Amino acid sequence: MIVPGATIGVLGGGQLGRMFAMAARNMGYRVRALDPSPHAPARPVVDKLIVGALDDVAAASRLVSRCDVVTVEIENIATDALAAVERVAPLRPSPSVLATVRDRATQREWLQANGFPQGPFETCTTGLDRAAVLAMGPGCIAKVAVGGYDGRGQLPPDLLATDHPAWTTGRFVVEQRLTLDREISVLVARSPSGAVSVFPPALNHHERGVLAWSVLPAPIEPALAVRAQELARAIAEALDVVGLLCVELFVVGGELLVNELAPRPHNSYHGSERGLVTSQFEQHVRAICDLPLGSTDVIVPTAIANLLGERWEPSAPDFGAALLDPNVRVHLYGKATARTGRKMGHLSAVGATGDEALKRVLDAAGRLDAWLKR
Ligand code: ATP
Ligand code: MG
Repeated sequence: MIVPGATIGVLGGGQLGRMFAMAARNMGYRVRALDPSPHAPARPVVDKLIVGALDDVAAASRLVSRCDVVTVEIENIATDALAAVERVAPLRPSPSVLATVRDRATQREWLQANGFPQGPFETCTTGLDRAAVLAMGPGCIAKVAVGGYDGRGQLPPDLLATDHPAWTTGRFVVEQRLTLDREISVLVARSPSGAVSVFPPALNHHERGVLAWSVLPAPIEPALAVRAQELARAIAEALDVVGLLCVELFVVGGELLVNELAPRPHNSYHGSERGLVTSQFEQHVRAICDLPLGSTDVIVPTAIANLLGERWEPSAPDFGAALLDPNVRVHLYGKATARTGRKMGHLSAVGATGDEALKRVLDAAGRLDAWLKR
């Protein structure tokens, strides 16, 4: 057990690293983070921010030099840097989990080899294969294998008509565009001693490839929730992940299909800070430190709505308008510059039901928009 007072390192100091660090500090741990930016969101809440790229072996070595355990808030970290960390302190999740998950093609092939359900896909290793794209049918989705997030790795749908460089170089996954009944996610925590906790599913709504809002627990049929939790748990065990694993799922014709795995805290569980006995960030700390895992029981249905950079144009929104509903909270990540599509923060709301929480949070977000339009 790595007990409070010890030092935790986190690779990546974005909003997930920031919220992780706050939970760790609440519990009395010290935190060191590595991030390419001196203005990383985690900077004000960590004991030490090491500024360096996520493939900078020397910087990773400096991070780990005083750490008792190291974790990640992002999966796309260079193998050499991970190896440098692992030589000095336990890295949770392990480099092999990160290697499976960080590349979308490897991830899909691993899911397939292990018999987990997913939609039709093809992997292309030296540029997009025209035959694969045609075989997936109209409107298929091509995604870059490494480094895509918030829909940014998805190539334009009119690709076929263009001479995009993706036709000749790069590694991709091409997927059939599925008609989704719903999107849900399930977060699983596993500790080195093998303890597992499975969170209630979250219901997620994406707009233009980016999570727009999420409700926790997902207001879905209990049998579907149980199936989703069993699937996520089986994936976490097969992958042998230590720490967190979020499984993004599509519901298509009542069936569950895996969209994507993330071995870290996840945007769709930000509501856990208010709605569950144990937040995802605290559970992450407990899991990697091999402390007993906390309860994932629901205290109150919670919804979150993301605040993207466009809401800062031409100037920062009037958060007072969102807070007119006393059930609403504002969560900001301390990012100095707002860009279109950049996650700047989120709103959360609680309610007697998930639907009520969602209405409250969307109304609050709408009041920000109303302010913008005035
Ligand atoms: P994030 O960082 O938000 O997880 P991402 O860039 O990793 O996003 P995906 O998770 O692959 O991208 O896709 C983002 C969203 O795009 C999905 O949640 C879904 O709404 C939509 N989408 C992706 N693939 C498909 C598909 N094959 N069929 C239908 N919709 C899809
Ligand atoms: Mg995704």
